[in-house]
Amino acid sequence: MKYFLAIIGGGPAGYTAAEIASKAGKDVIIFEQNALGGTCLNVGCIPTKTLLYSAKQYYNATHADKYGVKAEGVAFDYTKIVQRKTKVVRKLVAGIKQKLNNEHCTVIMGAASVVSRTDDNVVIACGEEQYEAENLLICTGSTNFVPPIPGLQDNPTIWDSTMALDSKELPQSMIIVGGGVIGMEFATLYHELGVPVTVIEAMPTILPNLDQEIVNILLEKYRKAGIQILTDTKVTEVQGNRVVTTNGEYEAEHILVSVGRRANMQGLEALTDIEIHRGGIVVDEFMRTNLKNVYAAGDVTGKIMLAHVASRQAEVAVGRMLKQLPLQRIAYNAIPSVVYTNPEIACVGLTEKDLNEIHEGDFAPSMSTDEPFVPYEVHQLPMTYSGRFVAENEGEMGLCKVIVDKRSKTVMGVHMIGNPCSEFVTAASFAVRMGYTVGEFKQVVFPHPTVAEVMREVIMEA
Ligand code: NAD
Repeated sequence: MKYFLAIIGGGPAGYTAAEIASKAGKDVIIFEQNALGGTCLNVGCIPTKTLLYSAKQYYNATHADKYGVKAEGVAFDYTKIVQRKTKVVRKLVAGIKQKLNNEHCTVIMGAASVVSRTDDNVVIACGEEQYEAENLLICTGSTNFVPPIPGLQDNPTIWDSTMALDSKELPQSMIIVGGGVIGMEFATLYHELGVPVTVIEAMPTILPNLDQEIVNILLEKYRKAGIQILTDTKVTEVQGNRVVTTNGEYEAEHILVSVGRRANMQGLEALTDIEIHRGGIVVDEFMRTNLKNVYAAGDVTGKIMLAHVASRQAEVAVGRMLKQLPLQRIAYNAIPSVVYTNPEIACVGLTEKDLNEIHEGDFAPSMSTDEPFVPYEVHQLPMTYSGRFVAENEGEMGLCKVIVDKRSKTVMGVHMIGNPCSEFVTAASFAVRMGYTVGEFKQVVFPHPTVAEVMREVIMEA
């Protein structure tokens, strides 16, 4: 039998593509070497959020006094926390299996590799069998990057995020190398469970791609709470459980290395002509590679490594394969992102830094002054402008920033810190995606009392 579509990788890109192509009546085969759900469901988003939720429950219980609640003898059982995480993951993976079964999609568990390819045929091997398809979608994801620092290899104190999630025991102390998204989420988890944490970041700031005013609020809170955060600090060597840096030496029971991820290219060796840039597969706006009938989606493209980007890319790829009109595209300018620290950070669209880079060297249109042209306005308010936020976030300020294009008054970006901003950043994504002006956004009614109303308050002042 020849399939319409073969998919390598069963993460958010792969299973989304499999489901929609099968639903459209096509014969689809999907290969997965570990577990359906990929990194996100098994060793990424879902298990971290489950552990973080337990940590937050414990943290809130131990800080309940500020809400007038007395909680004595509060304790946690880490074994139970980890067991619950495993249960949640199992349940969601079973859900994916069920969905694919319902759509009569062929699921093959095993490591697949491309054997050969022509413009209308791809041959894939998995175990002893070979399979043929008209189209191939590569969704092989990414793996943790291990930097070339002496002492990281064959060192039992070194963890990557998968090992940290798998550990049945809480470390006594933890050094986290890399203050990016993974690093700061694990810093939150361990800190809230009482583990001494040191974060070592090579750049002058943690979370370097985010709005720095927002990041500084987190940085200040975490430092005050006792998390040691070293910036502008490079790790030069690791000796057992000792980390040697440009800023002194540090020791901990375990060292988590979270300095980024790299595209997974195993099994694709036969595609010798596929175009690669910076380790990721190059794709066009429809997720087509330079090889006819070969598409790629998700982390393997090395674009934005987020599960929700992967699944949207899969929708676009399958839409193009099926020639569904109008052709779909991804609005890369309106991809929300969330960092699950406490408080959460959520943002969408351009930052001030992005806009300054775009307009670098521009001057005011009148040319009457040598002042650099600042093409945007920043409107912002603390989250405490929302009554609901004040009611539920004792002692927190939060911040909501809206970046508006000066000339058109279009909303270009929204950047927030404060719980639970991950839950309403979608409203901001909608505004950025639809190109709302401030005037149009003002007409949107927000329910009261909600924390989201702070966004409306900011817009009303714009
Ligand atoms: P990242 O790119 O977000 O952060 C890596 C950090 O490590 C950067 O701040 C970088 O400056 C620093 N760094 C690099 N080399 C270093 C070194 N030698 N010493 C010290 N610091 C160093 O990568 P990540 O945190 O590993 O996450 C990987 C991917 O997974 C990212 O694309 C991320 O967006 C995604 N992810 C997303 C979420 C989420 O959406 N909530 C959660 C986890 C991971």
